Amino acid sequence: MEEKAGAKAGWGSHKDPSCLFCKIVAGEIPAQLVDEGDYHVAFRDINPQAPTHILVIPKSHRRDITQYDEPQQLGELFRAASTIAAKEGLTNGFRLVVNTGDDGGQTVHHLHVHVLGGRIMTWPPG
Ligand code: 5GP
Ligand code: ZN
Repeated sequence: MEEKAGAKAGWGSHKDPSCLFCKIVAGEIPAQLVDEGDYHVAFRDINPQAPTHILVIPKSHRRDITQYDEPQQLGELFRAASTIAAKEGLTNGFRLVVNTGDDGGQTVHHLHVHVLGGRIMTWPPG
């Protein structure tokens, strides 16, 4: 039996019709996909801040990390981010960023993990 992405174990498949990243998940807006799993999609950032800049997002709409009650799926999102960094050859290190809310600098309100690498990162971030 075919199982739809997002239909497993209480995950719930939410879609916000006005959300840019939900449109990318649905294929309504083109993106440079680099990875896809049952629960996540990864694609290149349109305005890269490093030689490698990929966004890993849940297929199911969540505004931000505070909306997550599914630790396993959240863990898989981070595992996917780490696997993608390895596939991109970021053996010397990389940075994962999850901007959250206005003070966190979030501009697209569908949870995403930035995978940044290919240059030395500075601290503190801006
Ligand atoms: P935030 O500021 O919310 O943490 O990150 C949103 C990211 O989404 C930004 O880095 C921005 O460049 C990226 N972005 C915004 N619109 C698009 C788009 O249409 N396609 C892609 N691939 N990335 C986008
Ligand atoms: Zn969304």
